[in-house]
Amino acid sequence: MTLIAQIENLRRHAGYLQRYPRHLKALLTHATVKKLANFIHAEAERLLRCARLKSRPYYYWIDVNNICNLRCPLCDTGRKALGRPRQMMDFELFKSLFAKIEPYALEVCLYNWGEPLLNPDIYRMIAHVAKHRIGTNLSTNFSFPMTDAQLEKLARSGLEQLIVSLDGIDQTVYEIYRQGGNIQTVRDNVQRLHTIRERLGVKTPQIEWQFIVFKHNEHQRDEARRRHQQIGFDTIRFSSPGLPYVDMFNTDLAARYMPQNKNYWQYNPNLLLDKEYIDEQICHYLYRTAAVNPDGGLTPCCFLHEAKHDFGDLKTDTIDGIWNNAKYLSARSLFAKTPLKQPQTTCCDTCPLFKQPNNRPAQKRLARARAANRKIKK
Ligand code: SF4
Ligand code: SF4
Repeated sequence: MTLIAQIENLRRHAGYLQRYPRHLKALLTHATVKKLANFIHAEAERLLRCARLKSRPYYYWIDVNNICNLRCPLCDTGRKALGRPRQMMDFELFKSLFAKIEPYALEVCLYNWGEPLLNPDIYRMIAHVAKHRIGTNLSTNFSFPMTDAQLEKLARSGLEQLIVSLDGIDQTVYEIYRQGGNIQTVRDNVQRLHTIRERLGVKTPQIEWQFIVFKHNEHQRDEARRRHQQIGFDTIRFSSPGLPYVDMFNTDLAARYMPQNKNYWQYNPNLLLDKEYIDEQICHYLYRTAAVNPDGGLTPCCFLHEAKHDFGDLKTDTIDGIWNNAKYLSARSLFAKTPLKQPQTTCCDTCPLFKQPNNRPAQKRLARARAANRKIKK
């Protein structure tokens, strides 16, 4: 990789780097000898670009429901384009799925394609994970009324980090993206949770303001940074907008939402159209993570929601049974030192996120994307 490419890569990873302290804390606080050995093994197998792995994923998403109260225009839940029936995971299913990942998990994110606090069992679910000494975090829009009793349950649940999506400092700017949301409700929930946490004498959950920097709100960044503690947040993190997975080449959508400040262009359709991929690295999701959907379907990363992209069903199978199946071997083979002779086609073949040295149809993929983009622009 050239120096310029490395600098570009670092700049685009700035958002991820801000999350590293959380991951490091989970590792230091929650790793047992066995989990630490699995973590080191997974990272070694990633660096060696193995296709068949002896290690198991250590970072999980469990999506407790794919239902939401808002209509964010770049989210496939918000724009009603989910490729899986909308459903709530119940506590019994949650416990049985969690039991299968628990031996390896260092950190569990209890969300992906919905608003997790709408699930009435969420407090029990968090407490169940925390009881097993595994790091927990949850991302919420917090844009619905929460009672004091609910906020107290959240403060007592053992949740380590609450990520609150709030992209603006006034209602006019906020609701351009968080359609159907109410900024005063969000602030009120944050303030009351902060107060309840103090009353109970607990330090968690840490409350993080996640401010996605769009074209329409980038001028409010400094004001947000100044005000975050006054509102009740512990930290603030600015992050890049993500375009929907099927629209990553859509330059019109990018022109509408992406900010002027190029530091927040982690996904850049123009770069994709030029280069056909975003990241020079191999896909780390295939070594570190798994995303469990509300029906138990397992996808290799958090970007995918369509059931047809599932790599396995954790309801009926195990991590051991899924992790080296034909789909996983074929997907890793796109990056492996020794590619498979007859790989299966998976959703990873057309993924534009990571450079795929072994993907023969890459040129066709780019041509298709360019054609799709032309259609979008008409
Ligand atoms: S709040 Fe989150 S899950 Fe809901 S529509 Fe917006 S981005 Fe999607
Ligand atoms: S779809 Fe892309 S990001 Fe997801 S696992 Fe496959 S290659 Fe990685």
